[in-house]
Amino acid sequence: MKLIFLGPPGAGKGTQAERIAERFEIAHLSTGDMLRAEIRNATPLGAAAKAYIDRGELVPDSVIIDMVRERITRDDCKNGFLLDGFPRTVVQAEALAEFTDVDYAVNIDVPSERLVARISGRRMCPDCGAAYHVSMYAEPTCRKCGATLYQRDDDREETVKNRLKVYTEKTAPLIAFYEAAGKLVTVDGDQAVDAVTESILKGLGA
Ligand code: AMP
Repeated sequence: MKLIFLGPPGAGKGTQAERIAERFEIAHLSTGDMLRAEIRNATPLGAAAKAYIDRGELVPDSVIIDMVRERITRDDCKNGFLLDGFPRTVVQAEALAEFTDVDYAVNIDVPSERLVARISGRRMCPDCGAAYHVSMYAEPTCRKCGATLYQRDDDREETVKNRLKVYTEKTAPLIAFYEAAGKLVTVDGDQAVDAVTESILKGLGA
């Protein structure tokens, strides 16, 4: 099973991706998490990506495409994979189509006026990558590993506005791209977390 998750920042892609990848026993590959790990490890790629991420811009296509092309050849992708946050441009989608064939593109649809509040309440674990929302979990430390939670710099309001603009201009056209390819599954993301997971599984025929 090879899946792509589309949807604006704050739609709940990461949360749903983790659940769906576990269910199908496939690798969960978040390009945002991969880039944040590069930054934490102070690699040249991380240093180059940080300036784009901090501004809410996209990292250049060539960098991301090379990173994903290499990543999906690893052993843990033998069963398949779920790409969370890639592709984000038509150029990336075309490149992906050249090196592999995906089964479905899941589009998690959330009204744009709900997104800023969803993102600004988000808190992340620096160690295990778990994500929480203050409305559902208000503790300062991670439930899974105990590390102190933090707010991503690019989750602050000014950067979020730019990320949403970039999404509309560069990523939203992928909905039509995958619809034309007959691979699009759209679900209502403005429901309880479990209900969204059920809708996705139903959409995938599972
Ligand atoms: P995310 O965690 O998916 O919200 O990604 C955080 C940031 O990483 C984005 O705002 C971009 O700056 C960068 N990024 C992640 N995935 C991609 C991608 N496929 N193409 C370009 N930039 C990306």
